Amino acid sequence: MDLSKKKNNELLEELKDLTGQERLIVTRVLLYLQEVEKRKLFLEEGYSSLFAFCTEFLLYTPAEAQVRIEAMRLGKEIPEVIEKIKEGKVSLSNAAEAQGHFRREEKKRVVPKAEKEEVLESLYDCTTREAEKKLNERYDPEAKVKLSFYASPELLEKLEKCKGLLAHQNYEGDLAKLIEILADKALKADDAPPRRAPQAQETQENRTRYIPKATQAFVWKRANHQCEYEKNGKRCTSRHALEIDHIVEYAKGGSNKPENLRLLCSAHNKFRNFQQSG
Ligand SMILES: [Zn+2]
Repeated sequence: MDLSKKKNNELLEELKDLTGQERLIVTRVLLYLQEVEKRKLFLEEGYSSLFAFCTEFLLYTPAEAQVRIEAMRLGKEIPEVIEKIKEGKVSLSNAAEAQGHFRREEKKRVVPKAEKEEVLESLYDCTTREAEKKLNERYDPEAKVKLSFYASPELLEKLEKCKGLLAHQNYEGDLAKLIEILADKALKADDAPPRRAPQAQETQENRTRYIPKATQAFVWKRANHQCEYEKNGKRCTSRHALEIDHIVEYAKGGSNKPENLRLLCSAHNKFRNFQQSG
């Protein structure tokens, strides 16, 4: 299959069409799994559970099997879910995530069907992260995420010093609490009212690539620390490795005034360079 000759809009339209077909297939798989479960075919075929059948016979990874089984079970109780997955309103993984929450909640109380329907509706068009957040807020407000990373001896020493300095706020020296205090400090510093964008007094003679600190701070604040790349009203959500970009290139006479500056993530910065060189 040679796609290199396709126009960009053709490529995108066909890809969109393919993902629609992919969702259709996924929902068929869910219906087939329902029937296999109903007939207990997995037992007859020698598997102890539907999960074992999915991983050993259908060769799904454990994670793939898990989301399909969860979504299928939800579809048994609320058949409309299958339709919504087909339409792309609810992703397979969000449906599975919701079912996981319902299952755990049902160990404590009966979760009425109307509640499940309402929760599902709130998940329409949500990303995985948004859905997780909504579900956690509703069913597991104490949910904590385990963070782990490798720290250099230098970082450990710095953290120890911070612990000492901030002991009056965190007597126990709890690491999570310490990081929260440090994060609050960083965010508070950022919340300082934005200084008025300085009017750069640029002339040909003193022209410099250097963007004054105050202008930098202004641009970051204005962008709300988020990449400003936008197309057809869709703005990039990245906050990763953001850099200030000259809209009209500096080399082509673009100024350091805030109107000519924007914040881009590293991927969009590279993409811009790629477009300019292409
Ligand atoms: Zn971006």
